[in-house]
Amino acid sequence: MSEHRQNNVHTKKVAVIGSTGSIGTQTLEVITASQGEFQAVALVAKSNAELLLEQAKQYQPEMVGIVDESAADFLKENLPKHIELVAGEKALLAGVLAGDTILNAVVGFAGLQVTVGTLTAGKRLALANKESLIAGAPVVQRARAFPGAEIVPVDSEHCAIHQCLKAKPNVLGAAVEEPYQLSGADILPTEAAVSRLLITASGGPFYGRERRDLEEVTLEEALTHPTWSMGPKITIDSSTLMNKGLEVIEAHELFGVSYDKIEVVVHRQSIIHSMVEFCDGAVIAQLSYPDMRLPIGYALNYPDRFFQPYGKLDFTQLARLDFGVPDLDTFTCLALAYEAGRVGDSAPACLNAANEVAVQAFLDSKISWLQIEEVVAETLDRHNVTKLLDVEDVLYVDKEARELAEKIVEKITS
Ligand code: NDP
Ligand code: MG
Repeated sequence: MSEHRQNNVHTKKVAVIGSTGSIGTQTLEVITASQGEFQAVALVAKSNAELLLEQAKQYQPEMVGIVDESAADFLKENLPKHIELVAGEKALLAGVLAGDTILNAVVGFAGLQVTVGTLTAGKRLALANKESLIAGAPVVQRARAFPGAEIVPVDSEHCAIHQCLKAKPNVLGAAVEEPYQLSGADILPTEAAVSRLLITASGGPFYGRERRDLEEVTLEEALTHPTWSMGPKITIDSSTLMNKGLEVIEAHELFGVSYDKIEVVVHRQSIIHSMVEFCDGAVIAQLSYPDMRLPIGYALNYPDRFFQPYGKLDFTQLARLDFGVPDLDTFTCLALAYEAGRVGDSAPACLNAANEVAVQAFLDSKISWLQIEEVVAETLDRHNVTKLLDVEDVLYVDKEARELAEKIVEKITS
């Protein structure tokens, strides 16, 4: 252990919710690399008891949580007795209570409790679980006002934007409207200071194809991402560009920038992770080797930087950086997300729920890849937009939209 690390007396307690997934396991790698600066005090997953046990033995957390009660027996028998075991839905909030920083690496709407619970407890939320912010936006925004509550994004594009905004020039003459305080009084970018958020997109495995080429897309093809290795749900979302659509809404909610100022730029190499253009025409971009451990390390360490790089760019080997425009006629999920975002209120929750149902139906080989957008579009079409005043409202809209989307899947497949 380096002297620098040994001298670190302030171990930070991290709860990793969704520890067995792609982001969760990479978070644990960052915690290992932190050489004692971070400690995994809580590990929570849905049902992968074997991996949870392995992680618990290695990281010695204070508590382990498993949401799926039927998978808890294995842990009851095998988990070292000094580690507390919590089974069932309550494991999510028990995990939140155990940490100072909560890394929400749950996939899907199930992450809502973790997001709202962390913010209302006045803790730092290192947010990978974009679905909770998108579906619960009005409620999550209110929870951000709790003293001590803070969101530092893990999603690579939003982490990039967070870094670019932090590096913003002191824009003279910009109106001082502070939509959301990001974190720390030193970074208060205004809607007026930012002229565009440019979210980069790899384009997914089907970039350049037209609709007629996409009728026979297989599960294997859709699960093969050109630059990132991720969990199945986000990999499918990347293939339809719904992931980019969700990220547009996520950026709007995180940074308070209007939809007219949020653009998606196709950038196949995934070297630029996003950019901010300011009102004076300056564009600040964040470039790095594509590795999610960088944003994870950033979110855990912010406002400091993680002391270790995960890959460095060799500019002598980087011959070029390419950019393109997303094809909204072929990848209509991106257009649907803009539409739902602009409508606001319960529309993003409906979009998210319908998409989760449709992606699962595609993963289960019930519907084709092109039918994902069909299910989302029809669900949104038939949704009555309502205000979301509390978590119960969000849960209600999510449930209703899921039921509607399931019916549409049934209709398509019968
Ligand atoms: P994975 O599918 O790999 O992992 C999901 C994790 O969540 C697993 O630990 C799983 O447990 C757990 N989980 C699933 N359902 C529940 C539930 N109902 N309650 C509690 N835990 C649950 O997903 P990813 O790691 O790929 O993605 C996680 C989140 O991060 C998503 O929101 C995604 O959009 C976002 N993200 C991911 C990126 C990536 O590179 N993977 C990049 C940017 C954002 P179990 O293993 O037991 O099923
Ligand atoms: Mg992303």
